[in-house]
Amino acid sequence: MPSFVIQEKCDGCKGGEVTACQYICPNDLMVLDEDLMKAYNAEPDMCWECYNCVKICPTQAIEVRGYADFCPLGASCMPMRGSEDIMWTVKFRGGTIKRFKFPIRTVPEGSVSPDGGFGDGEGSLDDQLLYTEPASLRADELWTMADHQ
Ligand code: SF4
Ligand code: SF4
Repeated sequence: MPSFVIQEKCDGCKGGEVTACQYICPNDLMVLDEDLMKAYNAEPDMCWECYNCVKICPTQAIEVRGYADFCPLGASCMPMRGSEDIMWTVKFRGGTIKRFKFPIRTVPEGSVSPDGGFGDGEGSLDDQLLYTEPASLRADELWTMADHQ
């Protein structure tokens, strides 16, 4: 089932230009009601339950009802993301609660180079090669269609 916002918990990301859930949703589904300063999922039919908005919401205002095969009615599965790890709180139908914590990074926050150190900053949308090629393929040069025309 799609994500939904618990209105009492949502603070509209304190009036930022773009809310965290708007920023992260790959389908652009989240909308902020600027009068109420509450977000909502505007197109639940299009939600693929990726949990991105659930993980990023700073007030834990968003939930997804998980599929019945891993989250039967009455149970819930809620993540809480930190800078180093993520903790899933799993509530079973019988009331048992278990928490599972996993590391989410292997290097310090902010230290990752987006191009993996392979880019030379010369990339172009018109280029047939990907931005980091040919270096990321350990090649000196790669053939393109232009070479065969
Ligand atoms: S990320 Fe959470 S607090 Fe921020 S607008 Fe969305 S639902 Fe509200
Ligand atoms: S679960 Fe994923 S697709 Fe659905 S609203 Fe949240 S971020 Fe968007």
